[in-house]
Amino acid sequence: MTKKLLKRKQLLIDTLSVQTSSGKEEQMIQYIINFCIKYVPAAKIEVDNNNIYVTKGESDIYPCIVAHTDTVHDIHKYYKVYDDDNCLFAFNAESGTQVGVGGDDKVGIWIALQMLLSQDIIKCVFFHSEEIGCIGSSQANMSWFKDAGYCLQADRRGSKDFINSISGTLYGVAFAEDVAPILSKYGYEETSGAITDVGQLAENGIGVCVANMSCGYYAPHSDQEIVEFLDANNCLDMVTHIINELGCTLYTHQYTNNWRNSYDWGDFRGASRNYWFQDQQNESEVVIDQDGYETCYYCEGELKESEYGDGFRFCGDCNSDVIVRDEEYDFDEFEDVSDNYDGSMAHKQIVNNHLSNYYKNK
Ligand SMILES: [Zn+2]
Ligand SMILES: [Zn+2]
Repeated sequence: MTKKLLKRKQLLIDTLSVQTSSGKEEQMIQYIINFCIKYVPAAKIEVDNNNIYVTKGESDIYPCIVAHTDTVHDIHKYYKVYDDDNCLFAFNAESGTQVGVGGDDKVGIWIALQMLLSQDIIKCVFFHSEEIGCIGSSQANMSWFKDAGYCLQADRRGSKDFINSISGTLYGVAFAEDVAPILSKYGYEETSGAITDVGQLAENGIGVCVANMSCGYYAPHSDQEIVEFLDANNCLDMVTHIINELGCTLYTHQYTNNWRNSYDWGDFRGASRNYWFQDQQNESEVVIDQDGYETCYYCEGELKESEYGDGFRFCGDCNSDVIVRDEEYDFDEFEDVSDNYDGSMAHKQIVNNHLSNYYKNK
């Protein structure tokens, strides 16, 4: 392994060695600030409401990297990261058992730190409490993003996914065309994914292209979570390549949340042939995988019982309840309503029932 790679791996191990858990993120926040002060002295650091905003260089438009500072794991008294042939994992020395290494999203943090080292013009933002509902990013200071040209986040398990949609498309044609050759060079493919901070920024109305991607962690949200260094490094190389290629370009994009909008009264009134109930019927949120297990439509995550009863399953990866399509919903009835919707109380009730079922956990 080259000196450069060894250095990168050491910084990744150092970052994975910092323990952090949703709401108990002080050590990680301090680690990032200390890193910037020591190694990126020219950068401007703003800490606002536990979110960290770092700007390096002077430009009208900046590439922007997004990461989150929390993990789902507990903080242990004795915690150590090990490297076995580039597979990074963690042990609790007290109990002698494996614990999650927190690659979700410490790998994303590491990529942001590497970009702060290597790029002259870059913005990086570190949001707190992503895992408990994108708290940090939903309270983001959006004026800080007014000169962001596009945002990249590395917050996805595996090594191949480049997320182009989270309940709505995250970027437009120009961006897609510009990244396509780079994605294939690094073995990535476009797919849709679960909510994370860049989805929240789109939702906040950032108005530019954003994307999320796999960064080499596996089995997130479990004690078996590991990081494959070479996959993480491949992601870092790809992010570097994208930023070198796209540079300080403004890629505007207007995001629409298809989910929310398709459940909107306004859209319902003007419903065309492909209106929402039919879409729903075809796209169940629970998918049976090849081994016969129920998985999440959005992230292929494992599903558990939902506290909202049989009509729902809980997805730990998306941190939300997904709907099981079953006899509870009479689609024929809805279809009639859509064809003949007349705004009568009876029709409103049918739609209302469905809406309140759907939104019961929001
Ligand atoms: Zn994450
Ligand atoms: Zn997560």
